[in-house]
Amino acid sequence: MEFRNLKKQYEVLKPDIDAKIQAVCASAHYISGPEVQELEHQLAEYVGVKHCITCANGTDAISLALKAWGIGEGDAVFVPDFTFFSSGECPACEGAACIFVDVDERTYNIDPARLEEAIIKVKTEGKYVPKVVVTVDLFGQPADYDAVKPICEKYGLLLLEDGAQGFGGSIGNKMVCSFGDISTTSFFPAKPLGCYGDGGAIFTDCDEWACLIRSYAVHGKNADDKYDNVRLGMNSRLDTIQAAILQVKLNAFKEYELDNVNKVAGWYTEKLSDSGLLLPYIKEGYRSSWAQYTVQLPEEADRTAVQAKLKEHHIPSMIYYMKPMHIQGAFAGTDSAIADCPVTERLCRTVLSLPLHPYMTKEDVEFVAAKLKEALDSKKK
Ligand SMILES: *Cc1c(COP(=O)(O)O)cnc(C)c1O
Repeated sequence: MEFRNLKKQYEVLKPDIDAKIQAVCASAHYISGPEVQELEHQLAEYVGVKHCITCANGTDAISLALKAWGIGEGDAVFVPDFTFFSSGECPACEGAACIFVDVDERTYNIDPARLEEAIIKVKTEGKYVPKVVVTVDLFGQPADYDAVKPICEKYGLLLLEDGAQGFGGSIGNKMVCSFGDISTTSFFPAKPLGCYGDGGAIFTDCDEWACLIRSYAVHGKNADDKYDNVRLGMNSRLDTIQAAILQVKLNAFKEYELDNVNKVAGWYTEKLSDSGLLLPYIKEGYRSSWAQYTVQLPEEADRTAVQAKLKEHHIPSMIYYMKPMHIQGAFAGTDSAIADCPVTERLCRTVLSLPLHPYMTKEDVEFVAAKLKEALDSKKK
């Protein structure tokens, strides 16, 4: 069994994807070909924002947003403690201080009450100026924007939505990557919408920021002259081949993949309801894109042994994430290492992510659920 069956997906989409790749090869517009612009329009329309700027990966997307805002030394950026490293790596690379905030134990997303406490604390201490809140739509579920947005407004902070795992998710009719003042996503192959290499995108309604991001993404170029470099930027573009692949995959994603993966997640929830595990909790009115199906084992369970048992049955499982951000070695000795995040620390000890993808059958889910329950029972004795 595959954790995320990308081979199966390719089998299904192969005729269209192969044709698209060949067309790009024949056109020789390998960088910034017409497919890139077409895709940007399609993505912006799907998400419901004015501008989409594609780039080389989801990490660059975050960095480009922060550069457009001029975030740097002396600024405080609030980041959930339970996330992939990029969410905090990028603000720190710009010179800002990452303030790690604990998450909600059921949704895995930033805890609004802890966020407000952290903002007040930073303001009171006066060492850094609060500037940005990074929300992560972890495992596919949008963060609690109903609570986070008013906090950003109250304290005059910019909201950066890291939608790398949430693309396709929504709250009511509003799509992921439309919640931030700037929002970002990743097209890393295993993400909800992935390409065949690295890729990313940035979304915003603001003309000025969109223009700045386009400049930063291409060596700080002037708006109309590529060889007039008016600021220090980066080289961060989405390849034309990746854009062409994404055009095919976006159609499948919209037409059935997102629905299918929600169905698969529903089967897990049904089959594991009597397992004693804490199952993913999706808030009322929220829709997840199910980047992961992540359960919580009881504290006393031996997670390593459970994973080994599953592996005996060729069932892969993963731990997202092993380490709270504030404990990562890269932050050792900095103010970012000082954080009070007991929920994240517990989650890092208890979470387990199960195989999940839109092409999974009900039989697959039943098999994983049965073997997982067996593994938990055998470990009780
Ligand atoms: C994957 C991921 C990123 C980074 O995306 P890349 O395309 O791999 O650079 C950033 N944030 C989160 C939450 C992610 O899961």
